[in-house]
Amino acid sequence: MVVVMRPHAGEPAIEDVIERLNGYGFDVHRSSGVNQTVLGAIGVKPDFDVRHIQVLEGVADVYRVTSPYKFASRSWKKNDTLIDVAGRSIGGDTLTVIAGPCSVEDEEQMEATAAHVAAHGATLLRGGAFKPRTSPYSFQGLGEEGLRLLRAAGDRHDLGVITEVMDIAKIDLIHQYTDIFQVGARNMQNFDLLKELGHAGKPVFLKRGASATIEEWLMAAEYLIAHGNPDVILCERGIRTFETATRNTLDLSSIPVVKQKSHLPIFADPSHGTGRRDAVLPMARAAVAAGADGLMVEVHPNPPAAKSDGPQSLLFDQFVQLMTHVRAIAEVVGRNVAPAHVSA
Ligand code: PEP
Ligand code: MN
Repeated sequence: MVVVMRPHAGEPAIEDVIERLNGYGFDVHRSSGVNQTVLGAIGVKPDFDVRHIQVLEGVADVYRVTSPYKFASRSWKKNDTLIDVAGRSIGGDTLTVIAGPCSVEDEEQMEATAAHVAAHGATLLRGGAFKPRTSPYSFQGLGEEGLRLLRAAGDRHDLGVITEVMDIAKIDLIHQYTDIFQVGARNMQNFDLLKELGHAGKPVFLKRGASATIEEWLMAAEYLIAHGNPDVILCERGIRTFETATRNTLDLSSIPVVKQKSHLPIFADPSHGTGRRDAVLPMARAAVAAGADGLMVEVHPNPPAAKSDGPQSLLFDQFVQLMTHVRAIAEVVGRNVAPAHVSA
């Protein structure tokens, strides 16, 4: 931590700051110029609240030089984390595509979607059975029946499956069906849920909260890892800004920033990130170009009739086009995409 004193801060103020830092267990290196003093506080204290120092008399600024998270950081683990999901690797040279409807609705929908996305190179099937809806009057998901339909469709087409968990009480049930637990944007800082998922024994797909900073998001990942689960996949799904033309603002700049700060794989979700299907393809291309390890996209056999998120769900033809474009860009950035089983 670096403490910059105000110009002409008096000696008593400087000595008081040094004493306080020593009291908190830091070694202090002092450099004094003609007008100004800078204090270097040495000591590893990830949970130290810098405001203790910021509020002291004579202090101009305090800068942290180490991150408040450890296990999620690139300085703790240099190499990219690879995660095995149902026999397939996520991260590294692989570009993984997760596709499927927002909500599981019925068997026909799941069968048609699974067959289509698998044929074109998706390796994981998504579908919500417990849905976090803004309105209590909106479709809330099929519950366990939805989990069953998701798993069955995935198995028929050799796809792994991912679904959202909102509640600690549902972890055991969802565990019986899913390969990956999705933690949605609304639960990114549900710390009790994160702690429980720390020992759930399956990977967690951690979406960025709509108002979360990158540091808060990585701290949420730290909860999972610190509680025993190293298999964390991050997903940028857009943040809330002043812009209203899109549902969220897909912050693709978080991808290179996270890659530098963390070893964890990071995906992008251009469906929730934009909220409109015409924007999904360009933003999917951009996310892959920016270095994403994978994409999550919503696809539906009949989006106008979807029970949730129809306007942002891709038509089947659009998914084929997306896979074609993503393959081309993946090649440029040195990534492999699972092959299509049919010609596009
Ligand atoms: C979803 O994936 O359907 C979902 C609700 O996503 P988010 O948590 O990003 O809003
Ligand atoms: Mn959705």
